[in-house]
Amino acid sequence: MRAAVISDIHGNWEALEAVWADIQAVQADVVYCLGDIVGYGADPRLCWQWVTQHCLHSVRGNHDEALSGNLAAGMNAYAAAAIRWTTEQFTAAEILALSSYPLVYSGADARLVHGSPQEPKAFHYTRSRLDIESAFQAFPEPLCLIGHTHIPMVAEEIVPGTMRMLAPLTIPIDPEHRYLVNVGSVGQPRDGNPCARWVLIDSERARLTFRMVDYDISKAQQKIKNAGLPEILADRLGQGI
Ligand code: ZN
Repeated sequence: MRAAVISDIHGNWEALEAVWADIQAVQADVVYCLGDIVGYGADPRLCWQWVTQHCLHSVRGNHDEALSGNLAAGMNAYAAAAIRWTTEQFTAAEILALSSYPLVYSGADARLVHGSPQEPKAFHYTRSRLDIESAFQAFPEPLCLIGHTHIPMVAEEIVPGTMRMLAPLTIPIDPEHRYLVNVGSVGQPRDGNPCARWVLIDSERARLTFRMVDYDISKAQQKIKNAGLPEILADRLGQGI
């Protein structure tokens, strides 16, 4: 089984289109989405329609939930402005559907959650060593896949209480170990590299691979400006911040 895992599309159709082409090129069997389908970008509707057609499971991100009126109050001014604009692009029934994805999906081998496996409804950022250690205690599966920070990351638990950070490249999966993986962001990367990101999990070859995809950034930027969304949301795509 070859599973593609994507997160934080954030209404960026050009990035999603490029990632989809890459997913098809490597012949993934299934696609999972870790939430934040909308918010920031100018094509929330197209991106959501794509997710409904192509993703076997998707979980709820904080921006998806914010469409229903929850959480937007805690966001910065640009994010909140984007949520207001995004809400206008959907019908009430669609907003209900978008904001009602489950917070967690757990299969036999992996758990999917937007921010952190501990208190998923709080949308914690999993960044520090302490965050990562707490996360490992909050899921029983061999693998937990997260997004939310928009920064690719992989931590390997060798035995409970002992873990190490690995470079987000190609990682051999040791069946005796457990993994916490942040797949990065399709539509708004924040690690200084503007390429769209996703992760391929190949269970037969026992490895996971962080993929990096070029896309038409200037087209996505122009659409954000044309929509009247805050210009900073266009500018940051070019810098990957
Ligand atoms: Zn996000």
